[in-house]
Amino acid sequence: MKGHYPSRAMLAGIDLGGTQVRVALARSDGHLVASIKTKTAMLATPQAMVDWAAGEIDRHRGREKVRSITIAAPGPIDIKRGVLVNPPNLPWQNVPLVAMMGRATGAKVQLANDADMAGLGEFHHGAGRGSRNMVYITWSTGVGGGLIIDGKLHRGAHGTAGEIGHMIIDPNGPLDNCGQRGCLEAFISGTALARETGHTAAELFAAAAAGDRQARSVVERAARYMGIALISLTNALDPEIFVMGGGVSRSWALVYPTMIETLRSSPFIKPARRPRLRRARLGDRAGQVGAVEWARINQ
Ligand SMILES: [Zn+2]
Repeated sequence: MKGHYPSRAMLAGIDLGGTQVRVALARSDGHLVASIKTKTAMLATPQAMVDWAAGEIDRHRGREKVRSITIAAPGPIDIKRGVLVNPPNLPWQNVPLVAMMGRATGAKVQLANDADMAGLGEFHHGAGRGSRNMVYITWSTGVGGGLIIDGKLHRGAHGTAGEIGHMIIDPNGPLDNCGQRGCLEAFISGTALARETGHTAAELFAAAAAGDRQARSVVERAARYMGIALISLTNALDPEIFVMGGGVSRSWALVYPTMIETLRSSPFIKPARRPRLRRARLGDRAGQVGAVEWARINQ
């Protein structure tokens, strides 16, 4: 009797960051079998990046075919055309990454937003496991997010849903890079905090941890702004859980109490529908884990 053998074609996820490029290979059920990384600076051109990633995929796939590949990249990206437009951390413009990777590997290739993929990774394999409605927030040099609604990644009409950093907190606030005034990001991104204090965000958080009063008050104010954003997101989306990643989440003890206190201060959000707030679990692997998951979903 003939058996029904499951297809053994493989999946790959590529996380294209400003500092590192990571490639993960997985079986068709999403189980990771290899994970490789290199410094982005070593790959001078988009073609060099594509060739390196395709080479690593080829080296680790064994005899299996790779059926589906997702590339997680910083925005702005054109999801429909598969083009990297002009990422803030890379000197590359209008790169047709999907076509290039497809040519190099013969696989079906998708381009996706890196914060969306980190959120998807945390949802399936990290701090959001078991939930159905989750908001992922990355708080780092910028502020971004990914929305999971009814168990699915919500990308919106143009693929730009989840731009949490550009929620307007104060219309009279500072001008943001995006052209709007008073975006959350303009108040609390690592870049904004560094500009305001004259210290890097890492130095600021280290000083706050050491008990420096001024540093503490800057960090607390930033956490309060984030808490206000959590109130608005709760009212708009009614999530069960917020999962927060990015560099600032490493200073969890400094920001969590103020964020949760601010969220709890809303008289409108009754305890019964108040979402949980958790630190992300996958660290800087979240993007590649989510990219593999997206490659599985879209294979
Ligand atoms: Zn903005």
